[in-house]
Amino acid sequence: MGALRSLSAAREMLSLGEDAYLELASLALHRAHELEGGEAPIHAFLSLVEEPPRFRAELSPAGGAAASRLAGVPIAVKDNICTLGLPTTCGSRLLEGYVSPYAATAVRRLEESGAWVIGKTNLDEFGMGSSTENSAFGPTRNPADRKRVPGGSSGGSAAAVAAGVVPAALGSSTGGSIRQPAAMCGVVGVKPTYGRVSRYGLVAFASSLDHVGVFARSVPDAAAILGVVVGVDRRDATSRPRDPGPVSTSTAGEPSEALRGRSIGVPAEYFGDELDDGVRQVAERALDTIGEAGARLIPVSLPSTATALSCYYVVAPAEASANLARFDGVRYGRRATGGRTLSETYLRSRGEGFGDEVKRRILLGTHVLSARQYEAYYLRALELRRHVHEDFRRAFRTVDALFAPTTPTVAFRLGEKRATPTEMYTADIFTVAANLAGIPAMTIPIGNQGGMPVGGQLMCAAWEEEKMLGIAAALETCLEYVHPLAGEA
Ligand code: GLN
Repeated sequence: MGALRSLSAAREMLSLGEDAYLELASLALHRAHELEGGEAPIHAFLSLVEEPPRFRAELSPAGGAAASRLAGVPIAVKDNICTLGLPTTCGSRLLEGYVSPYAATAVRRLEESGAWVIGKTNLDEFGMGSSTENSAFGPTRNPADRKRVPGGSSGGSAAAVAAGVVPAALGSSTGGSIRQPAAMCGVVGVKPTYGRVSRYGLVAFASSLDHVGVFARSVPDAAAILGVVVGVDRRDATSRPRDPGPVSTSTAGEPSEALRGRSIGVPAEYFGDELDDGVRQVAERALDTIGEAGARLIPVSLPSTATALSCYYVVAPAEASANLARFDGVRYGRRATGGRTLSETYLRSRGEGFGDEVKRRILLGTHVLSARQYEAYYLRALELRRHVHEDFRRAFRTVDALFAPTTPTVAFRLGEKRATPTEMYTADIFTVAANLAGIPAMTIPIGNQGGMPVGGQLMCAAWEEEKMLGIAAALETCLEYVHPLAGEA
């Protein structure tokens, strides 16, 4: 057995008891180390545990307890989500070596279900980027083609799952950082409704847009992980006091039945000129499959799509400039030496600790919030954000879900977009709207183009994760996607 590709494969192995648990754990760790070495390392991880936690018989799947749903399963966690024992660096020099005194709620819930964190994954510094090249500790490479980026900012989590180190991983999304890298690496990525998964322990980037979500190899696996991490948390003020209920993808009869009679909206704005022809072809074939499975395809329009990206790049930096003010070299992480006054220490610590993109966002954010610019930029962006909400609300009055490509292109080459930030920003053009509206959205692999995976995106109305996952599971069954690395061990 080489790569670890599914929860059921892990569970089957784990049902054999302690020896199997140790074998599985060392396999995952071995594979994780393998990715860090060689000439063009994938570099999915920023830290790894030295050994797996001790085997606990009461957590074995044979016990059958609900608390053991993920017993013994190794998972990876993006390095902006707090864990006990391993550092939480956010891919930043400023937090190099920082170990959180508490674990994020999502991590704690996974651990209580028996899963264990194998390591922390690479990311664009503080989640700011679309390629994982903005990590202060070097980029992650795409397992399907090491000359290409894995997407970002959760590129390490996407790569770890795509390379078969772990069957699932946690990531975060502010503007698309789960769906975009999942699409580029050929795995499933889910961003839930805003407030459905606690943000407690997620280092804040832009609080009104930040979400914790999951990566997995299949829709049922993603649903299983999501089912464990969702739920009200009094430690997160934006966690909604609403019972989320179970998250299940099971449907009566054939899984593909979940598509019959559904109305699937196809937003014209997501099939415009930005879309690469190869990606368009794969997306159109997926639409044919959806139609053949008995769903009705309904053309819809989301006019706010054209301005959503600009809106995002005002709101997100504005919130980031406030959130990142806490990193002053005094309270967390690294402190610069040689400052003669307190403010000089602040300035030096931030100057040395933050990378270029983070500095760019802070400058942009403080500019749009400044007294003279506030109305022209920030208030205008909030108005545009309302249009995004309204567009989705209108669409979901007539359709069950929306289907669109997840990204305008397949994974690009390392270095290709680094020099032009605005070009990098367009990699999120199809994902930011769901973050601005807080609706659930996910991607599943729908085909390959020139040897690289293409993702198809599904979006539903707020709190309709279950419907979205059911439709996604049906589509996954119909498409029978084969990952470019499927032939390897
Ligand atoms: N790529 C987007 C940005 O740079 C989104 C990042 C994210 O979702 N964390 O802001």
